[in-house]
Amino acid sequence: MHAMSTTKTLFQKIADREIPATFEYEDDRCVAIRDINPQAPVHLLVIPRKPIARVEEATDADAALLGHLILTAKALAAKLHLGNGFRLVVNNGRQAGETVPHLHIHLLAGRDLDWPPG
Ligand code: AMP
Repeated sequence: MHAMSTTKTLFQKIADREIPATFEYEDDRCVAIRDINPQAPVHLLVIPRKPIARVEEATDADAALLGHLILTAKALAAKLHLGNGFRLVVNNGRQAGETVPHLHIHLLAGRDLDWPPG
């Protein structure tokens, strides 16, 4: 278990295979799973193994990890042939729609995505 917390987050339990999920990718720093409630034909979550609660809690020490998450999303977009476009979203805080307090990047694609978002 990571030293930052005494109880595992939902996404730590998923990364540790204690709760089932459909994995699209994993490495020593992150995992990518299918969202259980997809909002688009492609809806993945790229999740660091380190349980940073949200962007607000990230520090300079996390800079390389945060970059790795975006580059992982980019690689997944290429692997899934999302050349028509994709969107990366990170919700920070209740008003922004954050429901799981373990930082994650939503990778959304496969349909027209409105702007501004809801
Ligand atoms: P957010 O609202 O930005 O914190 O995103 C949390 C996301 O996690 C939502 O899109 C949920 O549908 C998704 N989610 C919650 N529980 C699970 C789970 N067990 N497996 C996969 N995705 C999940």
